[in-house]
Amino acid sequence: MGLERPYNCLLVIFGGTGDLARRKLYPALFNLFVDGFLPPALRVIAVGRRNFTQDSFRQEILLPSLQTFSRRASDLDAHFEPFATRLHYFRTDIYDPEGYTRLGRFLVELEEAADCQGNRIFYLAVAPDHFGPVVRSLKETGLVPARGWQRVVIEKPFGHDLPSAAELNRQLRAAFSEVEIYRIDHYLGKEMIQNIMVIRFANTFFEPVWNNKYIDHVQITSAETVGVEDRGGYYDRAGALRDMVQNHLLQLVTLVAMEPPASLATEAVRDEKVKVLRSLRPLDAAAVNRNVIRGQYGAGEIDRQTVPPYRREKEVAPDSTTETFVALKLFIENFRWAGVPFYLRTGKRLPVKVTEIILQFKSLPDILYFKEYGELRPNLLVIRVQPLEGVYVQLNAKRPGNNNYIVPIRLDFCQNCEVGVNSPEAYERLLYDVMRGDPTLFTRWDEVEAAWQFVDPIAAAWMARPPLFPNYAAGQWGPPAAQELLIRDGRHWWQEDELLPERG
Ligand code: NAP
Repeated sequence: MGLERPYNCLLVIFGGTGDLARRKLYPALFNLFVDGFLPPALRVIAVGRRNFTQDSFRQEILLPSLQTFSRRASDLDAHFEPFATRLHYFRTDIYDPEGYTRLGRFLVELEEAADCQGNRIFYLAVAPDHFGPVVRSLKETGLVPARGWQRVVIEKPFGHDLPSAAELNRQLRAAFSEVEIYRIDHYLGKEMIQNIMVIRFANTFFEPVWNNKYIDHVQITSAETVGVEDRGGYYDRAGALRDMVQNHLLQLVTLVAMEPPASLATEAVRDEKVKVLRSLRPLDAAAVNRNVIRGQYGAGEIDRQTVPPYRREKEVAPDSTTETFVALKLFIENFRWAGVPFYLRTGKRLPVKVTEIILQFKSLPDILYFKEYGELRPNLLVIRVQPLEGVYVQLNAKRPGNNNYIVPIRLDFCQNCEVGVNSPEAYERLLYDVMRGDPTLFTRWDEVEAAWQFVDPIAAAWMARPPLFPNYAAGQWGPPAAQELLIRDGRHWWQEDELLPERG
């Protein structure tokens, strides 16, 4: 993180008793506190409906959240008390106008007591249906405009399709300007995602070959072994296309494919990202049927444990047609990428938890080294995002000995394999950036808009053709069609065991 300190402010978290606040926001704030990155006068106001006193909130919500989810839990003895005094629980219903008036008075009191200079951040960690009404109430009851600066943080999903996203944006813009709106895509807060631009633009040997002359294709995988856990109600309405592809995976595509920005200034970076999204070849219904594969898991095994089918998960309809897996092939129609397929896949209940980007370089002609010397493998650049964070490059090299036998070797950098390396969580970086006013790692409206423009025709084509679900067993890499998507192009999804060096 940079050295500049974020400004003093109040951070109001609507949904301060919810899952996101407990699993991500409080642990991130605590980690920032321990590392000295919080502004000295910051006060956090957790808004919820449940009946807590300050003390019971700290003991029943805050402390267990940090014990369970903070990477700095071992620092709790020394730091919990001073951290907890910065958090205040405020009980109200977000549909009660009088509650906003009380909240407004409370914020002024805090601003006067602590030196917060009238700066306010509103974090909407509530269900998406509440985003618009909360923002409208903030404006109608005078909590915004703030005396100092003001910002609003919006969780995903940002709409359900382009019309609903545009409507949400209109509601936000009635109270906040575009630069005050921080749309979270937490993938952008991950260490290795931020590293993509550095790898590309700070190394001489990647940029010259980062194009359709040298790259055969790109694979992006974001796989989870878990099912829907406690979020079946939300997920069953969203599905993998809206939950993962529209935001996280397309954001990864932009970072891999963008042109070098004119500078690292926020808008310069976003300008290049949005150009990628606008260059995506649109998919008509025939292209969707051919190039987009959807799946839903049935019963199966993960880590030798039997797991139930998706349709038997909590809060999921027993005849649900929601997809839990998507694989697709897309093309970016610009000079750099014309003709290079990008294969994306994401899903739940897959065999391993992994997010990674693989760039496969074009094969060399078999002129010097023929089959008799071993199989010449393509060069790969693999960017591992999670759970391992790192980069490795696959090359061909001579096996030691008196012949020219060739084996693949791997130059491997693993950032979090060493004991003691404890990378910051995505939400640490994102909250820090909101406090210091840097929206580079948040999505601008035109990015969201272009992403929905690409995704909506897929959803529409699917609506017209009911799926035959379930079509993969939990623990498999999606339905067979996901493999065929690459096989018919003479390619295959790289599996972990293939990426290991051969033993001679
Ligand atoms: P959640 O566990 O259901 O929490 C909802 C929160 O909203 C609770 O604090 C609840 O307060 C509050 N709330 C609901 N209705 C309210 C009302 N009328 N007045 C005042 N407060 C009200 O939801 P969540 O999982 O944290 O998700 C929050 C947001 O983050 C959603 O937009 C979700 O899509 C997004 N998100 C969540 C995750 C995640 O991992 N959980 C990940 C990505 C994005 P009480 O409990 O006091 O009633």
